[in-house]
Amino acid sequence: MDKIAHGCPLLTSLSVKGCNLLTNQALSSIGSRCKHLKTLNCSKCYCITSIVAIADGCPNLEELILTDCQYITEESMFTLDKCEKLKFLDVFGCRYVTDNLLKYVEDFPALEELQLGMNKIMDQSHALKELQTTKPSLRIVQTRQGRVVDNPIGALDASAGGTPITPQNSSALRSLLRDLKEIEKNPLPLVSALPLENTMFVWHCNLKGPGTCFTRRFSFILTHCRLENTPYAGAIFHIQLTFPSTYPSTPPSATILTQLPHPHVHNDKICLDILSDFQTYFEENKTGPRTRGWSSAYTVQTILLQLQAFLMEYKENSEGRPLDQYLSKIPQAIKTANQFSCPTCSHRPGQTWPPFHVRYYLSLCMLFLIMLC
Ligand SMILES: [Zn+2]
Repeated sequence: MDKIAHGCPLLTSLSVKGCNLLTNQALSSIGSRCKHLKTLNCSKCYCITSIVAIADGCPNLEELILTDCQYITEESMFTLDKCEKLKFLDVFGCRYVTDNLLKYVEDFPALEELQLGMNKIMDQSHALKELQTTKPSLRIVQTRQGRVVDNPIGALDASAGGTPITPQNSSALRSLLRDLKEIEKNPLPLVSALPLENTMFVWHCNLKGPGTCFTRRFSFILTHCRLENTPYAGAIFHIQLTFPSTYPSTPPSATILTQLPHPHVHNDKICLDILSDFQTYFEENKTGPRTRGWSSAYTVQTILLQLQAFLMEYKENSEGRPLDQYLSKIPQAIKTANQFSCPTCSHRPGQTWPPFHVRYYLSLCMLFLIMLC
């Protein structure tokens, strides 16, 4: 793609349909060189997660087909308003597209046809009706047939994002993509995690403090979720997981990007025996156990489960440090964490990224309503 971009600066039409190993880096090359591009077909390019490079670099784009680009982020599509000549946009099978895109589409000046289907857009959503009212000339095609292709792992051994693929990291990338699918299938109530747009080897996570103020009265809700109340209730802590190219043979490292007073947090590192930081910590301090709890059979889901349990284990302290020194700092840490804006991802106060899975909250609300009645 780099050669095409350098050799064909006057390119007007390009189809990379089914090139499922193409990454964001390939689109960056096209976006930076091919200013005259009018038609781009990226169907079934499963590893592309962002279209920003095309939006920034191809002002003459008229037709963009993103069919089955399952992992492309909705935020990156918002930038397509820069393509003032865009007439045709196909986002069928882009699973992260929601009603929010429809609000942005209103501002796409030349758009004549929008292809939807297999997205998170509600069939009769308010946003869809509003778009039909404000842009009556826009043809909206909603396809219900077909299905989002369940990517065979073999087709996904490239990175999602801009990570260059090498023989050394291809096995790790394959494992990380498998882990990503596992998380999507079995989301956890208190942890969310996704890889960053430009690399599969760095994931950002949100860890929710177990319990809430009102659940002190309605403790059955926590019992239902097999959780307990903790001093961290109401907090969202932002964490970065960094994976080595030798993953899953070697474990990742976890850095807490927000304050988290906890007996098992040392210098922004979480001291869990399945993380690489555990070994480093005890080697530096020459104390305590040196066991490594990591197994190459573990997945990101295993790490998230451990992180989720970790906040509930604040009572234990192997080094006998007085707990009061942590407890007194927790309220301020919660305040600070909830005000945190991440410099690397789109996580902001009131805009949690990666978002928590909605299914658990619906089940909680339903249970709450049933008990009140
Ligand atoms: Zn972040």
